[in-house]
Amino acid sequence: MKTLFLIRYGEIGLKGKNRTFFEKTLTNNIKRALRDLAHCRIYRTHSRHFVEVTEGDAEAVAKRLQEIFGIVSVSPVAVADLSLEAIQDVALKEFAKVARPGLRFKVNTKRANKQFPLPSMEVSAKVGAHLLKNFSGLKVDVHEPEAVLDVEIREENAFIYTERLEGPGGLPVGVAGKGLLLLSGGIDSPVAGFLTMKRGVTLEALHFHSPPFTSERAKEKVIDLCRRLASYGGKIRLHLAHFTEIQTELRLKTPERLMVTLMRRMMFRIAQRLAEETGALALITGESLGQVASQTMESMNVIERVTSIPVLRPLIGMDKQEIMTLAQKIETYPISIRPYEDCCTLFLPDFPATRPRLQQVEEAEKALEIEALVAGSLEKREVLEIDY
Ligand code: ATP
Ligand code: MG
Repeated sequence: MKTLFLIRYGEIGLKGKNRTFFEKTLTNNIKRALRDLAHCRIYRTHSRHFVEVTEGDAEAVAKRLQEIFGIVSVSPVAVADLSLEAIQDVALKEFAKVARPGLRFKVNTKRANKQFPLPSMEVSAKVGAHLLKNFSGLKVDVHEPEAVLDVEIREENAFIYTERLEGPGGLPVGVAGKGLLLLSGGIDSPVAGFLTMKRGVTLEALHFHSPPFTSERAKEKVIDLCRRLASYGGKIRLHLAHFTEIQTELRLKTPERLMVTLMRRMMFRIAQRLAEETGALALITGESLGQVASQTMESMNVIERVTSIPVLRPLIGMDKQEIMTLAQKIETYPISIRPYEDCCTLFLPDFPATRPRLQQVEEAEKALEIEALVAGSLEKREVLEIDY
């Protein structure tokens, strides 16, 4: 049996001239997301997309559609010919899915096709009366209905439905340029990546590891996180850069209490270099404010000075609990809590400086061959294309 889904998108309808670009991007993202799932026909008319599942698991398709940025809601719809009788017939079948004695309902009609002879109020009234006649115990309630039967009268057909599945909203990935996500194996940075993708940004990801101090398992974890993120935004290129040499140098040549600040300055330098190479317009981190020593305003100030491109911190105002709740919802949480160490937890000082001074930091860095360390880390990197 065929299933037809009607897809609504909000913000992208508002973007004037860019609209076609936005709509095409959304179509492509939908195609890509469904490619292995079912046989589908995807088409669009006036600010609506349709996905017709001709063969395969329609429920799985619905679930997938609910993960695609730009989609506000999805409804499985039934199609009727353009006559009141046909609409009433189909409405009856559709409403049978939800009808029960005592149910408070209303009919909501939208008439996009002004050629249709009856005004929308009248269609609603007639379809409502038809339902009341055929199901016992229904009650009309236009203010606080428990169920709504929607009728959309369009050019060639009418669409009838009772269900609205919520999508993630936002903008289709691909309409807002590219950003480079600094992805650790922790809870926060995948959530930061998710929120950035939600605004239409394509992600490239950078992870620092320190073999042999960090394990293969830690690397697997980051790959799995990327795969999870890719299910929302399509393929992600992951760069695995070496941090071993940098950490060794820092430990040998710089004061222990500045370790975290110096490490993070090195990460940002390398990230900026990679962003320039790959055309990313901003760096993205999972930092929030005041969470740990390196996330005070003072630390951020000293750390960010090594970059000249914008650093986006989508989690800046969130509490740890809010971040964890979102991580659970987007299903990165169970991957993030796997126990493997990441490079930042190596050689950590007992008392990191929470208010590092720029002058001190710059002084300490004189002991390092910064350019060689940056180049070395990128040279030895491994690049993986990750899809879900
Ligand atoms: P997360 O949960 O994302 O690891 P965190 O709360 O542990 O964050 P930090 O360890 O201070 O905080 O890291 C802050 C940010 O720096 C991370 O969110 C991430 O964007 C980046 N980062 C940290 N470690 C790495 C790493 N090994 N590779 C790439 N980026 C990293
Ligand atoms: Mg971390």
